[in-house]
Amino acid sequence: MRAPLHLKKVFSMTAPASLRDLSSADDYDPNSMPVAKAREYIRAFLQPITGIERLGVRAALGRVLAQDVHSPIDVPGQDNSAMDGYAFRHADLQSGGDTALQVIGTSFAGAPLTREVAAGQAARIMTGGVVPAGCDTVIMQERVTTEGKSVRIPPGQQLGQNVRKAGCDIKREAVVFAAGQMLRPAELGMIASLGIGEISVYRKLRVAFFSTGDELVSFGQPLGVGQIYDSNRYTLHGMLSRMGMEVLDMGVIRDDPAAIEAAFTSAAASADVVITSGGVSVGEADFVKQILDKLGEVLFWKIAMKPGRPLAYGKLKNAHFFGLPGNPVSSMVTFYQFVREALWVLAGARPAPIPMLKATCTGPIKKAPGRTEFQRGILSQGADGQWTVRPTGDQGSAILSSMSLANCFIVLPDEVGNTAAGAVVDVQVLEGFF
Ligand code: AMP
Ligand code: MG
Repeated sequence: MRAPLHLKKVFSMTAPASLRDLSSADDYDPNSMPVAKAREYIRAFLQPITGIERLGVRAALGRVLAQDVHSPIDVPGQDNSAMDGYAFRHADLQSGGDTALQVIGTSFAGAPLTREVAAGQAARIMTGGVVPAGCDTVIMQERVTTEGKSVRIPPGQQLGQNVRKAGCDIKREAVVFAAGQMLRPAELGMIASLGIGEISVYRKLRVAFFSTGDELVSFGQPLGVGQIYDSNRYTLHGMLSRMGMEVLDMGVIRDDPAAIEAAFTSAAASADVVITSGGVSVGEADFVKQILDKLGEVLFWKIAMKPGRPLAYGKLKNAHFFGLPGNPVSSMVTFYQFVREALWVLAGARPAPIPMLKATCTGPIKKAPGRTEFQRGILSQGADGQWTVRPTGDQGSAILSSMSLANCFIVLPDEVGNTAAGAVVDVQVLEGFF
């Protein structure tokens, strides 16, 4: 168990005054760490990586913008029409009745009228067509009457109506996206729409991970008595790859001090982040702890949550370290609750929390107050449009199939106890994250 004294040492070593404030908090208790507190402590250590690379727009999908994008142009580039109709000079209009103007040509989208429209004249104009020189106002075609080359415009038109002004969407030099923006399909399109083909993004975060445990066997090998196939490396591979991280799978490491030390040393030297699963629970943690103490500064916590009670966090030289519990559900839950957001911060992004909404729970839930539970649930929308959530069944932290059945976590906060069927509960939507 870490004493507050040690925490103070870690905090004062690495970071700003606010961290020292945290370290002196009276309520720091590694053996009963609320979920929100653990997140806060971890967050205080995180500094984004600094490496930057230039990429073509297409290749930047899923990456994080490292420098602001300024628009080199006005969008739209010129005043243009929002309607199919006629462009004219507002000053030409009579106040008492219709005004007849002579139509001298057409401005199509992409084929502007090259002549200036003089007093007493108008131009036919199509949606997106550049408003010809001399004109300031557009009337939609349904409002006019035409006769040969003449158009009659009724009174009551507003100056500038139906004209989209140059730069009304984006002004030249404006910051269109700030550094930290995650680049999704819409952002790629926006950047391309400014005529920009290459942008600066943060390099990918390198994340090394390995499983620990003498009982673990990789596929392709026969199972002995008491052995199990390793699954955490595959869920981790999937979760990290989904996030676009550069993954470094270091395999299964025996519960052997020399092997564990070698694995940590090599992982910390080659990655920004090291993630392990297993080996941080009571009984196992002691020798892992001694090794980690030698290599860096690591805090071992018992989080007030289920599943996922044991969690280790710290620094191994420059690498951030997350020691996740070994149980397959626990390692996934702690990844989503602590690691995911931390990785995005390290990758330079401003992460949004996993979306949370309210749903009616179809069954009763047994729960002890004093810890946050993340039960696996199936969220669905009934014919009446209402969202309901159904627990997946056995909530044991080794039941990986519960994660596969689920599309959400039912989040039951610390203070809540048993919940009756029909209660409204908080739900974290995982579709798109899984
Ligand atoms: P530990 O946290 O190492 O005490 O492990 C807790 C439980 O999770 C034990 O039953 C382990 O066998 C199991 N476990 C640990 N690592 C893995 C893994 N990589 N894949 C599947 N199960 C695991
Ligand atoms: Mg183990």
